[in-house]
Amino acid sequence: MRYAMAIDTKKCVGCSDCVVACQLENNVPIGYCRDWVVESTSGTYPNLETEYRSERCHHCSNAPCVRCCPTGASHIAEGGVVLVTQDKCIGCGACIASCPYDARYPHPDGYVDKCTFCIHKVRKGEQPACVQVCPTNCLYFGDLDDPNSEVSKKIKERKYKRLKTEAGTDPQLYFLI
Ligand code: SF4
Ligand code: SF4
Ligand code: SF4
Repeated sequence: MRYAMAIDTKKCVGCSDCVVACQLENNVPIGYCRDWVVESTSGTYPNLETEYRSERCHHCSNAPCVRCCPTGASHIAEGGVVLVTQDKCIGCGACIASCPYDARYPHPDGYVDKCTFCIHKVRKGEQPACVQVCPTNCLYFGDLDDPNSEVSKKIKERKYKRLKTEAGTDPQLYFLI
């Protein structure tokens, strides 16, 4: 099993409903976020194109945040999901510094927090909160090892890009382009 997410940049309208849903589902403190929307414009005037990308932890297969964690709090769980065990985390911040995607934040309660792919929902057979609320249905979450999963099909059918692959992290967010 290999959990991954595909994000259709052609369908994302940048509404940030995914961000609000995540904050509510995961009690993210005000001023922090586990997911965010990037707006990037490319081309030259007047042929400009704007892309919206809903981003979060990439649940890297080769995760520097896990390697550098001195207590084992950051670890790889089922399906390759990268998680933090709160009561093992000493808040040293090494993982925050090591993440090329700036995906982690220091929770005011003293541990480091980030996207979990809503594993507490996935374990119950539900989809992540961001996926559930997206009004354009542009987020696809599932098992890449299952060729019939929506995420596998999207990656097979469409062109995609992954971010900062030069960092060697093998990220598991696939941006459909
Ligand atoms: Fe894009 Fe969907 Fe997030 Fe809105 S909810 S910003 S459409 S991914
Ligand atoms: Fe770790 Fe950052 Fe990769 Fe997430 S995106 S697994 S926090 S290195
Ligand atoms: Fe937030 Fe869950 Fe989406 Fe991750 S999968 S960004 S924790 S709503």
